[in-house]
Amino acid sequence: MRIAFLIFFSFAFYSFAQIPKAPPRSEGDGPWPQFIIRGVTLINGNGAPPIGPVDIVIENNRILSVNNVGSPGMPVNPDRRPKLKQGGKELNCEGMYALPGFIDMHGHIGGKEQGTPAEYVFKLWMAHGITTIRDPSTGNGLDWVLDQKRKSEKDSISAPRIFAYTAFGMGAKQPVTTPQHAIDWVRENAKKGADGIKFFGAPPAIMDAAIRENKKLGLRSTCHHAQMNVAGWNVLNSARAGMTSMEHWYGLPEALFTNRTVQNYPPDYNYANEQHRFEEAGRLWKQAAPPNSDHWNKVMNELLSLDFTLDPTFNIYDANRDLQRARRAEWHEDYTLPSLWKFYEPSRQSHGSYWINWGTEQEIAWKENYRLWMEFINQYKNRGGRITAGSDNGYIYQTYGFGYIRELELLREAGFHPLEVIRSATLHGAQALGAEKDLGTVEPGKFADIVIVDANPLENLQVLYGTGAIRLTADNKITRAGGVKYTIKNGIVYDAKKLLADVKKMVDEEKKKTGWKLVQPGMPEF
Ligand SMILES: [Zn+2]
Repeated sequence: MRIAFLIFFSFAFYSFAQIPKAPPRSEGDGPWPQFIIRGVTLINGNGAPPIGPVDIVIENNRILSVNNVGSPGMPVNPDRRPKLKQGGKELNCEGMYALPGFIDMHGHIGGKEQGTPAEYVFKLWMAHGITTIRDPSTGNGLDWVLDQKRKSEKDSISAPRIFAYTAFGMGAKQPVTTPQHAIDWVRENAKKGADGIKFFGAPPAIMDAAIRENKKLGLRSTCHHAQMNVAGWNVLNSARAGMTSMEHWYGLPEALFTNRTVQNYPPDYNYANEQHRFEEAGRLWKQAAPPNSDHWNKVMNELLSLDFTLDPTFNIYDANRDLQRARRAEWHEDYTLPSLWKFYEPSRQSHGSYWINWGTEQEIAWKENYRLWMEFINQYKNRGGRITAGSDNGYIYQTYGFGYIRELELLREAGFHPLEVIRSATLHGAQALGAEKDLGTVEPGKFADIVIVDANPLENLQVLYGTGAIRLTADNKITRAGGVKYTIKNGIVYDAKKLLADVKKMVDEEKKKTGWKLVQPGMPEF
């Protein structure tokens, strides 16, 4: 998101409004010279079915071995178990499930408009099992992000691992107006230590030069193909030039046009009017080549042949097809900061708050838009393509962490098997980042980034929400199942419920300070 970034030439002299950095870490236990997770059922990120009970042995911050220790439902034979060494630590996880740490491929670390301190965002992510994020250009600036990245690497703050993709042109000494300027900026960005570039679109010659140079330097890239430049450069152009992934879906229907070359904009359309922008976007997939047509297949097959990753971020448009659902999600009261809520509320100025006159017609159009979009994403996966899970949270009623789990539910809705959903959230993310050597599966040699849940997410992905899933007991008592129990990153065990409690405290304090309560906008107060 971030509309300020959409106008290409505006970066150079844009000064960044930064949010408070995360405080020194006071959460989490470990790492230990030896740490054994006992008796857990492993749901790995490589598409393998669940297996258990297993004992997972970790040494410091790396996984040493995954050991089959018995037969389901039978007492475990102690002889088969790895022995605890002196100074080691063990954790009994019988009846629980272990998954690789989740990767959020579109994780903005908040911004001044949202009023979200980094601690708030990081803790919500970690509480939902997210141990790695790709920052697709945060308004806090590259230096700010790199500082938090380094501190996260050393675990001196409680935060996921961070991959920093700078907004193209951000911090440029001069406006990027020629291919040579673009190449200079790309080299400078790599030198500063960024992991990649997030594009929003630019004139074709500049996009081409920047993407090629970036690839030459071995960095990765992604793009939100915004409407202001998409008529001249869509997803196919990016992929051919060597871009490695795309965000959302913009630029994909445009690549699929057969009977037009621009979106069917009404004459009074104004891109800066976000109701126009998002309402018309909801009619875009219908203007593209239909599923399984020649052109649909041609575009899909070419993207597949280029090993191009799609990061749909379905959840961030969820409110477009059901505004009430997104607005009234049960976690807002306790976990959405009042300042963030204020940013979500209908406004002609905030980004992603375009509820000027939104209703049945817009929502039905978006439901149809999703059906076609989901069909493309599911087929891409079925033909061997890589789909990742990204949240883009902090906008449009999607709160950090919760929105990511919603993304997993929407991949499921698109037709993914729950194991395919988990693979998108883990191994496919790691591959897209070029980090599969260290991340993405629970496998000897990789970082000890592991999520532990006490309910089966394959049966119901909603157990991954911090607020869990509703379960009625045999004697009619209402309870909750799940919520991540432990998030393990770099061999350090975080109590996920405790992280959530910290977040709730931050929210409560701001509520007290501001007297804020969740209200229905425009409703008469009695
Ligand atoms: Zn975004």
